[in-house]
Amino acid sequence: MKPVFSIIAPIYNEEDCLPLLYERVKGVMDQTGEPWELILVDDGSRDKSNEIILSLNKKDERVKPVIFARNFGHQIAVTAGLDYSQGDAVVVIDADLQDPPEVILELIAKWREGYEVVYAVRAEREGESWFKKITASMFYRIIFRITDVNIPLDTGDFRLLDRKMVNVMNQMREKHRFLRGMSSWVGFKQVGVSYKRAARFAGSTKYPFKKMLKLALNAITSFSYFPLQVATYFGFIAAGLSILTIPVVIIMRAIGSQNFLGQASTLIAVLFLGGVQLISLGILGEYIGRIYDEVKGRPLYVVRQAPEKENSPEQA
Ligand code: UDP
Ligand code: MG
Repeated sequence: MKPVFSIIAPIYNEEDCLPLLYERVKGVMDQTGEPWELILVDDGSRDKSNEIILSLNKKDERVKPVIFARNFGHQIAVTAGLDYSQGDAVVVIDADLQDPPEVILELIAKWREGYEVVYAVRAEREGESWFKKITASMFYRIIFRITDVNIPLDTGDFRLLDRKMVNVMNQMREKHRFLRGMSSWVGFKQVGVSYKRAARFAGSTKYPFKKMLKLALNAITSFSYFPLQVATYFGFIAAGLSILTIPVVIIMRAIGSQNFLGQASTLIAVLFLGGVQLISLGILGEYIGRIYDEVKGRPLYVVRQAPEKENSPEQA
C-alpha cells in the first residue's frame, strides 16, 4: 500500500537512538490512522546502526533502509530520503530525538489545512552548548540578511513537505545542498510551528564546528553573491582612497615635504592590499570549486542497498 506519510531520518552513528526513534515514530504515526513509512538513511555509520536498521526492517516492513556506500553528509542523506519517499507528505526529522516525533502531528494538522511546507521553529533549545547556540543563532541571522531567499529564522531541517514540493526539490540536483534554503526558494504556502528542541537522547553531536562551517558556506554560496560583491566593494573603496590620496602625496613631495619618506607607510599599504587580494581570490575560489563540482556531474550519493524506486534513481 502506498504510504500517505513518509518520515525521513538521516543516520550517522546513532545506534543508541535508533530503537527509541522507531518506537516513538511508530507510536505517533499509528495515531494518524494512515499508512506511513519510515525511511532510515544510513550515512556510512561505523557503529551498529546499519544492523539495527536492517533488523527494524525485518520486524516492520514500513521501515525502509537506504544504506550509503560511505559518509556523504547529512544534507545528502536527507536528499536520498526525499528521492526514495513515496508519501503525499514527507517529514524530515533528526535521528537523535532532538526533534520530538510528537510534533509531527502538529505539522500534519497544518498540512491538512492546505500548507505545502510546515517548518518547525526552535523556540527553545535544550542541552546544547552556548557555543553551538550562539553560532547557530548568528548563522541564521547572517543567512537571512545576505541571501535573496527568505529563509525563516531558527528553523532546521525538521519540517513537513508536500509531495508537490518534494517533486520540485528532487529535480534540483545541486551538489552543495542547503535544503532549508532550497525549500524556501521553491515557494508555495509555508507556515511555521514552534517547538521546544530537546537535548540529544544519546551519543554526541555529529556536527562538529568544521561541518557547521561547511554547511554555512554552502548556504551562503548557494543563495547569495554577497561575498563576491564584498570583494568588489573593497576594490572600489581602495581605488577611491588612492585616487584621493595620490595627488596629495605628489603635491606634497613636489613642494618638498619630508612627510612621506619612510617605508612603513608603503609596507602597510602593500600588506593590507595583498591581504584583501588574497581573500578575494579565496572567495572566487570557493565559487569556482563549486562550479567545478557541478560540472563533474557525479551522482550525489552511492547506495549499497535501497528500496525499489518508482521513478528510476540517478544511479544504479
Ligand atoms: N547526520 C548524518 N550525517 C552526518 C552528520 C549527521 O546523517 O555526516 C545526521 C545525524 O545522525 C542526525 C542528524 O544528521 O540524525 C543531525 O545531526 P546532529 O544531531 O549530530 O546535529 P546537531 O543536532 O548537533 O546539530
Ligand atoms: Mg542533534
